[in-house]
Amino acid sequence: AIRFDRVEKQFGDHVVLHDLDFTVRKGDRVTLIGPSGSGKTTILRLVMTLEEADGGYIYVDEQPLTHVQRGGRRVELKEKHKNEMRKRIGMVFQQFNLFPNMTVLENIIEAPVHVLKAPKAKAVARAHELLEMVGLPDKAGAHPTQLSGGQQQRVAIARALAMEPEILLLDEVTSALDPEVVGEVLSILRDIARDTDVTMLIVTHEMQFARDVSNRVLMFDGGRIVEEGSPEQIFSNPHEQRTKDFLSAVL
Ligand code: ATP
Repeated sequence: AIRFDRVEKQFGDHVVLHDLDFTVRKGDRVTLIGPSGSGKTTILRLVMTLEEADGGYIYVDEQPLTHVQRGGRRVELKEKHKNEMRKRIGMVFQQFNLFPNMTVLENIIEAPVHVLKAPKAKAVARAHELLEMVGLPDKAGAHPTQLSGGQQQRVAIARALAMEPEILLLDEVTSALDPEVVGEVLSILRDIARDTDVTMLIVTHEMQFARDVSNRVLMFDGGRIVEEGSPEQIFSNPHEQRTKDFLSAVL
């Protein structure tokens, strides 16, 4: 489970997240929706420890991802603990972020071999399975620049899964794609949601996808949760005016 406990985040004097509490249970698929600038990406970056909270605490399975208080003192996490926590979390970004100088296979085995210290032969075998799963069995030797955006994003998904993460963070993974390849990427994510029990925290503007894969939707505005519920409730029967306004603007 991921637990946010009174999390505050600001950039300069702009408060992006206010006193934010929520829990994502193991195996949950939670989608964050809301207007641009409402803090959704910041939440994923905090879980990935790419950003640090200014206040409050974040836990994964009750283990801290942020500093802790001990005897009234702020205690920073040890680098070793942070690295251990990071191994449990995979992230796929809007801009793929593949290593351009490496082949597809090298991209996928990089972290398992260097971070998890997996035997190379095992990592390679697993990479081939994952490439099969994302529908690119014959692209192991290709370089990212030889692939379409949709193919690159499928490699990025395989690369994230190669770490066997408990938590998969998906940050607007189709926003940089040409419309005709959005479907292939979403369909792979639907398969992963169906076939694995990985916990997913998703930021997307694809409302149909959010409806298909998630079991909970959190609607954000101005760094606060304005409404949460099942996808059926949020999309078919939103209670809050801000949710209604947002959905009528994007649907
Ligand atoms: P979008 O859908 O446009 O990605 P979002 O809901 O994901 O929006 P965030 O990306 O989390 O929103 O950004 C929330 C606010 O924080 C925005 O006003 C943004 O400009 C600001 N912000 C995010 N990152 C930084 C940063 N590194 N430095 C300064 N401001 C930032």
